Amino acid sequence: MTRSLPPRAEVPSAPLCAGPCRAVVTGGAGFIGSHLVERLLADGFRVHVVDDLSTGKLENLQSVHGASGLTVTVGSVASPKLAGSVLEDADVVFHLAGVVGVRRLAREPLDVTQANLRSTEVILEAAAARGVSVLLTSSSEVYGDGPVPFVETAPVMPGSTEGLRGGYACAKAMGEWLATAHAEQSGLQVAVARLFNTVGPRQAGEDGMVLPRFVRQALRGEPVTVYGQGRQTRCFAHVREVARALVDLSRSASLPGRVINVGSALETSVADLARVVLECSESDSVVQRVPFHEVFPSGFVDPPRRVPCLRRLQSANGWVPSAPLRSIVADVIAYERAGAMVDRGEASSSASPAP
Ligand code: UDP
Repeated sequence: MTRSLPPRAEVPSAPLCAGPCRAVVTGGAGFIGSHLVERLLADGFRVHVVDDLSTGKLENLQSVHGASGLTVTVGSVASPKLAGSVLEDADVVFHLAGVVGVRRLAREPLDVTQANLRSTEVILEAAAARGVSVLLTSSSEVYGDGPVPFVETAPVMPGSTEGLRGGYACAKAMGEWLATAHAEQSGLQVAVARLFNTVGPRQAGEDGMVLPRFVRQALRGEPVTVYGQGRQTRCFAHVREVARALVDLSRSASLPGRVINVGSALETSVADLARVVLECSESDSVVQRVPFHEVFPSGFVDPPRRVPCLRRLQSANGWVPSAPLRSIVADVIAYERAGAMVDRGEASSSASPAP
């Protein structure tokens, strides 16, 4: 007996949301999530944040505290019951909840890998059951150390299963495959944003992210720790531009593919980043080169280059993030300086870190 296959749902056939609507943001108290929430509220969306505060902080939502149209639920979206109830009256969900950071991954690989996989599985299932559109955030980690620029149609290269880093990449890639499978089988409207290095105010440095680490080190007069020779490159996008790109993608009427790279294509070496941080902060800190093997467990690969192809993003949104590195670094320095003043009790009680 032959059975005809359902039509392939390669790309969402309509915008994930036609206009300002009811959005759920998982991980909405996190670094990128909180900027996304600000943007959505400014654009007239009603926003329901769900965050278990494992890495997010309610302080990140200080600028929108009490805003009409904002609801915050503290809890884990890995719980099917909670995910189901918050999606009950939603039109679109931006799924950002997840655990990131290479240091954290090296320290707690099981927790990080499982947390990322489970929450995505649960959200996709809950959304498919309720006809809620999904913008799933994935990661440039899925490209591993493949050839640059990274193009969405290229095979993913998470790496050896005996190494740790690939587990995170694989969990993210598996989330993408689940999204495609849901689209095929249940008609779920879903797009995937593969996020590249995103930086800006509110990013935590504790779990490895390079820019907040360098800025804090520079402001404290401590050595700025460049791993290896510092020749590895990254493209750093301002978090506010990334947030805007995600909102625009959710409203785009013509997605050129299900998976879309989101980030900046301005490539910088880590050594140059250290130089810019030292110049912009007028710090006397020195650069300290730290061999990779002193920071990463064996088998942990630090991709030598990470550069996105942004053709799809340009075609979907009509623009791509392009904030110059120096202005991003200046924003992070201002934010960290304000936070340090609050810590030392030098600011008035109403002072808050710059958004
Ligand atoms: N890095 C560094 N010193 C640090 C932290 C990070 O040289 O104190 C390097 C790291 O090895 C990587 C780059 O900066 O090559 C970006 O690291 P991050 O963790 O921010 O992002 P990812 O590695 O995920 O791109």
